[in-house]
Amino acid sequence: MKLLKYIFISICGICLLLLLSCSSDHAADNNSTLASKTLNIESKIISPDIAQSSSEPENHSDNNLENKSENNSINESSTDPSDKQQETTKHELPEQHEEDVVQTEIDLRKLADYKYIAITFDDGPIPGNEEKLLELFSQYKGHATFFYNGFKIERCPEILNKVLEQGSELGNHTYNHCNLNTVNAEQTMAEVEDLNDLIENITGTVPVFVRPPFGEYNQLTLDTLPYPLVMWSQDTRDWETLDVDCIRDKILDVSPGSIILCHSPINETILAVEQALPILYEQGYRFVTLSNLFEIYEVEPKAHQVFWHLSTPFTD
Ligand SMILES: [Zn+2]
Repeated sequence: MKLLKYIFISICGICLLLLLSCSSDHAADNNSTLASKTLNIESKIISPDIAQSSSEPENHSDNNLENKSENNSINESSTDPSDKQQETTKHELPEQHEEDVVQTEIDLRKLADYKYIAITFDDGPIPGNEEKLLELFSQYKGHATFFYNGFKIERCPEILNKVLEQGSELGNHTYNHCNLNTVNAEQTMAEVEDLNDLIENITGTVPVFVRPPFGEYNQLTLDTLPYPLVMWSQDTRDWETLDVDCIRDKILDVSPGSIILCHSPINETILAVEQALPILYEQGYRFVTLSNLFEIYEVEPKAHQVFWHLSTPFTD
């Protein structure tokens, strides 16, 4: 009997051990299921941000550029999922920074990463052309500066607020596209101030910069006008060539801090800008207003002075 009792107790003991081992396996399975669920949730939390950032620009080629850079990084990264997550987190930061730089505030540290230029358009506004340019700059998260004439604004005043709403800048190109080299101080003031009054009545803001028509000015102009005169470092000569390829190549032939002269009434210029922006964007150029360019390069736009080009304060 003692032997039977011993065998029975032994069998019970083995059964108990088997049961315990099964339940601990289940617990481990449950833990791994929980872990993978957590990972899925985390990746779901991260995913909408990626989706949002990559779908943010309205332009498809812009999307392609950003997607391309994301894909490259993913290819370069290791196969460890945790590394991938870190990679994803890293990628969100430049996107947010870029947004800050272009849309809200100027981050001077980003000069090391991007090359800033100001593309300017004289002799508008021309209905249709201005809207198309604003759309193009929006696609590349950029802005431009528009030097308008008063007599043209009278025909389509509504464009001014569209320019400002897009984040671009208005400049003063005199009321009547006047050659300031040929007029006296009183006429010079009237040409500029009458236009500033018109722009202020429509938008509530006054332009910071004056660009003299034909690039013509003299010492009297400088002494008379209490504004900075802004010229250009790259003249596209678009009015002369009327050739899309030539204009595009001139726009592409720039360096950081360049101020580019274009004319918005010229249809070929609009097409050239459409071709140039994606190329420059891919080269690391970003398109800012003149005011932002001065701010980025820490140059004070002083009145009675002429500005042609803003050079970089950093030498690296
Ligand atoms: Zn002009």
